[in-house]
Amino acid sequence: MADHDVLVVGAGLAGMRAAISAYRSGADVAMMSKVHPVRSHSNAAQGGINAALGGGEDSVDSHIYDTVKGSDYLGDQDAIELMCREAPQEIINLEHMGVIFNRDDEGRLGTRAFGGASYARTFFVADITGQAILHVMYEQILKAGVRSYEEWFVTDLIIEDGECRGVIAMEMLTGKIKAVTAKAVILATGGVGRAFEPSTNALICTGDGMALAYRAGSTLLDMEMVQYHPTTLAGNGVLLTEAARGEGAYLINSEGERFMEKYAPKMKELASRDVVSRSEATEIEEGRGVDGCVFLDLRHLGAETIMTRLKYIHEVAYDFAGVDMVTQPVPIRPGQHYIMGGLKTDVDTRAWDVTGTAGWDGVKGLFAAGETACVSVHGGNRLGANSLLETVVFGKIAGEKAVEYARDQKDFSISDSHLAATKERIQGLFDRADNGERTAAIRLELGQIMNEHMAVFRNEEGMQTAAAKVRELQERYKALPVIHKGAVYNTDLIFHMELGNMLDCAEAICAGGLLRKESRGAHFRKDMPERDDENWMKHTAVTYSEEGAQVTTLPVAMTRWEPQKRVY
Ligand SMILES: Cc1cc2nc3c(=O)[nH]c(=O)nc-3n(C[C@H](O)[C@H](O)[C@H](O)COP(=O)(O)OP(=O)(O)OC[C@H]3O[C@@H](n4cnc5c(N)ncnc54)[C@H](O)[C@@H]3O)c2cc1C
Repeated sequence: MADHDVLVVGAGLAGMRAAISAYRSGADVAMMSKVHPVRSHSNAAQGGINAALGGGEDSVDSHIYDTVKGSDYLGDQDAIELMCREAPQEIINLEHMGVIFNRDDEGRLGTRAFGGASYARTFFVADITGQAILHVMYEQILKAGVRSYEEWFVTDLIIEDGECRGVIAMEMLTGKIKAVTAKAVILATGGVGRAFEPSTNALICTGDGMALAYRAGSTLLDMEMVQYHPTTLAGNGVLLTEAARGEGAYLINSEGERFMEKYAPKMKELASRDVVSRSEATEIEEGRGVDGCVFLDLRHLGAETIMTRLKYIHEVAYDFAGVDMVTQPVPIRPGQHYIMGGLKTDVDTRAWDVTGTAGWDGVKGLFAAGETACVSVHGGNRLGANSLLETVVFGKIAGEKAVEYARDQKDFSISDSHLAATKERIQGLFDRADNGERTAAIRLELGQIMNEHMAVFRNEEGMQTAAAKVRELQERYKALPVIHKGAVYNTDLIFHMELGNMLDCAEAICAGGLLRKESRGAHFRKDMPERDDENWMKHTAVTYSEEGAQVTTLPVAMTRWEPQKRVY
């Protein structure tokens, strides 16, 4: 008998929202996370969450249009329409769960401006929005009594006859490896930012779910679309939220010039992220930066605005760079932040072919939501504050659809071979001879090569270099030892497995990048600087093989919006 109807892997906003909705649909649902749920990366989200709910001249259609345009017309318009339509109700749902959003002077839910948006439609809790929502959702999980496997690390998906039947996971406290079965599995395992160095992402963002599904035969979509955020702090790459610019901060170069006026005359600092990051990189390359940075200037906002609405980033800049943003401009530069690509799903969050789209199939019973998935609402470039929205909208749908699917499944028991195979593989890692290689060193080499060649500006040669380096690291990984042999919280073993996942994701990122012969969204090739709608209005799709990534393309879903030249 299956342990659960639905198992949600991941306890960030997508995972928790999925678990809450599956619970409310009446299923036996469990949630599993490699860290304590409220330590998921969603906790770090600062700026806010979008919805066209504020009234005035804003509308759902405007939100849809901005998102389609922001995606550089690569986003699937059916998915974007769905997300933007559901957004207002989801904000109200969150409010009813207990999220205390900031309010305006009249006591209504308050909004702030964000990049690429025609109207101020970002709802927020100071600059700790993710934390505020995540904690409220965790309360809902506790209240519902949802079974939560906390600090369990998923090592494998259990697949029998092409269907996902649960996971093999290590209970990190004891080192015990166990099978947890379910009639449907939802992957909500977040992004893969740590394949880049530096990154704004937490150390746990290692693409585990993407890699597990990829190796199991699912398709990764648009993996080349990696977002560099325009304002990451000099030195360590910690994020300074776009909300700073939403509140009115400027970007200035070494000459004190507000350079975005040249690149995006209308939207300036609030153009979309790919545009702002490229502008900064150009300023720096052309010699108008200081030590590889330009500056975020908040001085004119005044101490009160900064200390009430941006208190957290004030603290970050002060603690890590020794800069008081009330009186000094802060050195910043573009830094890896988000992956638009991920595990391909349809709008029902299913990661397999139910719509008959030619060219992709995958593992039945496997659903995905949040940053790990690519339902393709962000296309080539995500708008700020649309990611939290994606997590809750598609998390909710995933919960509902997984319950529907599970109801149609007969009970089953699984073969013992899955657990045995994982145990044997892990024992094999412990038995490896110490050849002097270390996980941390390979991880750093990976991050640096990706940050050099798969960043804001790319070209054929650089991407080939990165792909070759990733292959070399994958070879070295095959002999990489696990030094620490203990059972209790063996982080050496965990880091080892995470590295393997990041390498596979990096392989897919390079493969997607090399396939796409144009510039679109975050994928800007200096050797092919134009967008080519005739040949490349399509998704890149990558599947796994022993010999390396296999690539193909898939059509983009269009509804009402024809591609236009993108100006801000
Ligand atoms: C610093 C920062 C600020 C951001 N600010 C904003 C913002 O203001 N607005 C916005 O819209 N977006 C923002 N984003 C993006 C957004 O926060 C993320 O895309 C989103 O929170 C991802 O949520 P998620 O639920 O998909 O994954 P996560 O929150 O990353 O959660 C992943 C979960 O999967 C679990 N997991 C992963 N691998 C395994 C495994 N092998 N076994 C078991 N469990 C596993 C983890 O434990 C975790 O619980 C920000 C991102 C960062 C990094």
